[in-house]
Amino acid sequence: MKLFGWYFKSNLLVRILLGLILGAVCGITFGPAMAWVSPFGVIFIRLLKMIVMPVILFTLTVGAASVHPSQLGRVGAKSLLIYMITTGFAVSFGLICGNLFQPGKGMQIAAGATEGIKADVSAPSLVDTLINLVPVNPFGVIADGNVLPVIFFCLIFGIGLAYVRNSEDEQISRSGETVFRFFNGGAQIMYLVVHWILQYAPIGVFALIADVFGKQGAEAFGPLGWTTLAVYLAFVGHMLLVYGGMLLVFKISPLAFFSKAKEAIVTAFVTRSSGGTLPVSMDTAGSKMGISQGVYSFSLPLGATVNMDGTAIYQGVCAIFVGFAIGAPLTFSQQLTIIATSLLASIGTAGVPGAGAIMLMMVLESVGLKVEPGSPVAMAYGMIFGIDALLDMGRTACNVTGDLAVTCVVAKTEKEMDLSAWQKDKQHVLVDTAVAD
Ligand code: ASP
Repeated sequence: MKLFGWYFKSNLLVRILLGLILGAVCGITFGPAMAWVSPFGVIFIRLLKMIVMPVILFTLTVGAASVHPSQLGRVGAKSLLIYMITTGFAVSFGLICGNLFQPGKGMQIAAGATEGIKADVSAPSLVDTLINLVPVNPFGVIADGNVLPVIFFCLIFGIGLAYVRNSEDEQISRSGETVFRFFNGGAQIMYLVVHWILQYAPIGVFALIADVFGKQGAEAFGPLGWTTLAVYLAFVGHMLLVYGGMLLVFKISPLAFFSKAKEAIVTAFVTRSSGGTLPVSMDTAGSKMGISQGVYSFSLPLGATVNMDGTAIYQGVCAIFVGFAIGAPLTFSQQLTIIATSLLASIGTAGVPGAGAIMLMMVLESVGLKVEPGSPVAMAYGMIFGIDALLDMGRTACNVTGDLAVTCVVAKTEKEMDLSAWQKDKQHVLVDTAVAD
């Protein structure tokens, strides 16, 4: 009983980190024998996925209905533009790190690494992506968990609701208000459910990490260590330099930002899903960063779908790796092509575990590196695929950090950020220092 008391009273992040460390230790010590814990991890991911659609549905509708349509247009355009710019930086950063570290140089490629890899991947065209934004059946896309068309529908519904709420006809405006209250109530309920699910997070984290390390721990520290290092340094560098720099430019303290974002970053790291982390990042933006719902309920789901800086970095470094590994380092013009395709591929990457690795095939093929079974390219790709879970953790953490950083900038410039949420931190620091003195 005392154990339960401690569990619920201790700090959530401490518990999550404890789960992470214990999971890694158990995974490395007991290896594949830890596979029996994996259902606990699967349950955690399922719990998060369970609430993604209702969270988007309720909060985005409330968000869109709360702001004036003209302002919503600005928020949308601004978020998209900054997302694209940061992703451009990300893929260039990945290529620079790849060129510096030259992962894959002189690597021995194991035969048979390509088993089970599909070779036929074609890039979804930009036109197709745009067409698919418009759902034929809104309820169908909600049931399928297809985020982009759901965002599209909720936006239109929410904007419609904003007009109805503000109607001059009192009867119409009252009915609009009722619908608004219903969705607002739904959003509040979902936040409560998020808090409950987070109580299970430490157990879920333990299981997920023990499983990954049990299966892949040894390889990660082996011959692919250099690639892992290059990718991770690029993630950390991008997070500190690009996001940190961007926040500084807009007079937001990067230190306070990372301290507020840490729960979302850790959740992204262990779940390997930006989509799954959405409830946590939305909660972070609303309750910790003081960002108005009108901004974050739109920009975060959008970011979790189209803004994948970590994935773009990973694709840059891995393309360089494959080039070196097959003895044909990428030329400058090939690297320019990689920048363009990685940008598109990261937009098209779903915020679910492992999606970036599938899109990597498309990026490689854009520079003529066809992943054909048995070919050296496929073997090099197979090696990367083998440690994908570890790389996915870092890239998802980077993806989610990017979503939150851009959301902060958009909110601050739109004056949709409660600055007292950030000043409180300062006061705490002052009080803490005074106490320590
Ligand atoms: N797992 C990543 C995410 O959800 C996507 C990827 O695989 O790159 O953000």
